[in-house]
Amino acid sequence: MRKIHQIYIDGKFEIPHGTELAPLHNPSTGQVIGEVRLADEADADAAVAAAKRAFASFSKTGKEERIAILKRLSAAFAERLDDIKAAMTEEYGATRGIVDGLVPLAPGMFDEAVKLLESYEFTRTRGTTTVSMDPLGVAVAITPWNLSVVFVAQKVADALAAGCTIVVKPSELSALQTQVMSECFDAADLPPGVVNIVTGRGRTVGDTLTSHPDVAKVGFTGSTAVGQQIMRNAADTFKRLTLELGGKSPSILLDDADMTSAVSAALASGFLNNGQTCFAGTRILAPESRLDEVVEAIESAMPAFTAGDPQDPATGVGPVVSQAQFDRVQSYIRLGQEEGAQLLTGGEGRPEGLEQGWFVKPTVFTGVTNRMRIAREEIFGPVLVVIAYKDEDEAVRIANDTPYGLQAHVFSSDIERARRVAEQIEAGTVLINRIFGDPEAPFGGVKQSGIGRQHHTYGLEAFLEPRAITA
Ligand code: NAD
Repeated sequence: MRKIHQIYIDGKFEIPHGTELAPLHNPSTGQVIGEVRLADEADADAAVAAAKRAFASFSKTGKEERIAILKRLSAAFAERLDDIKAAMTEEYGATRGIVDGLVPLAPGMFDEAVKLLESYEFTRTRGTTTVSMDPLGVAVAITPWNLSVVFVAQKVADALAAGCTIVVKPSELSALQTQVMSECFDAADLPPGVVNIVTGRGRTVGDTLTSHPDVAKVGFTGSTAVGQQIMRNAADTFKRLTLELGGKSPSILLDDADMTSAVSAALASGFLNNGQTCFAGTRILAPESRLDEVVEAIESAMPAFTAGDPQDPATGVGPVVSQAQFDRVQSYIRLGQEEGAQLLTGGEGRPEGLEQGWFVKPTVFTGVTNRMRIAREEIFGPVLVVIAYKDEDEAVRIANDTPYGLQAHVFSSDIERARRVAEQIEAGTVLINRIFGDPEAPFGGVKQSGIGRQHHTYGLEAFLEPRAITA
């Protein structure tokens, strides 16, 4: 049994004032593997106070000092990659493919911030005006349990590069990742209070931080419903917000695509991280003229997406994070059938041979219309829908007929044609013949997928405010 009874405030590990103990589970077995003692409102206040004290001097540091800190952070995270990977697999069932591919992004976030700072001009002259890009103040980062370390690294890297101090509230489901990450921050020898970490519930710590008068900025990654609550909390004090929310991303297979590779990529996107990825391509839009071929290609590609032990390198899809998420995903598989969709593969219940833990059968529905709830709502599990379209215009209409707009994928053998389609899609990112974005491109959503952008100057400037002095 792992006992995590620590938070990190003002450069020190402390026992939280909060007394609630929450169990930690391994989703591959469903067994309790530990407990976390959760922070409360008083801990949140203490973390903000520490960040506010630290801001007075940290905001005055120059590029060189910040670059040195960011380099130490990169080294500290690079040192612990294996521990981060193990925590992710143990605590939410991340597969080997996911941890090997994505965990190195965490130190990479600090490296990117270093590169950016080296060339970024914080002061510019426009005619008779000097514009300085000033740090906003105390920032708060609120993150989900999936890939928590990468999301935290990204927000902290941008905040520190900008000269902000920060309070991080990771998900209560990611305490193992948080413990390793806190040790990385501690090892990087930061000035006390520059980074503070309080694991607690959204309704206590989250609400306190997002309505706190001494907080100037909230960077949030999580669900659309919580994003709405954060906007309400932040309204009274006009906090600056970056909200990275949910999605129901389309993968448009144009009728000239190489269907074997396009379908494999579309499934890989949809099932990514056990189907628990904000930008997963969960709606596969297939041309009616080649629907049979698409269905055959899905059937042949499915063995690569077999559910199993996330430690096994051959596993394509691990378990979902919790019993509640398992029940929710099962209810959507039931709902799809009630709505009249056909199960091409998968279905209700656990996959054969996986009687323990929260494993879901990787599921693909055909005969789906975009009005069905399984096509409109974010399921956050390995459940995909195939929607047939007649022509390109209809594909674009269906792709855009969603409350979300985080990412879209277009597959075609004609890049110019794909680009013309991409230009009509309402999404923050449209990828052509690929499923992973470019780290230098802005990342974020339109509509109910969020507000603002991360990455590169877009991310840095979300922690800065221009001040104009005209003489
Ligand atoms: P969630 O929204 O339930 O929780 C995210 C975080 O918000 C957690 O730390 C939680 O404790 C906190 N929270 C909850 N209520 C709060 C409140 N009232 N005030 C402040 N904080 C509060 O999301 P989750 O289940 O952890 O993660 C899955 C969701 O995150 C999905 O919807 C997914 O699409 C989204 N997500 C988005 C991105 C992106 O970059 N757009 C990336 C990953 C996940």
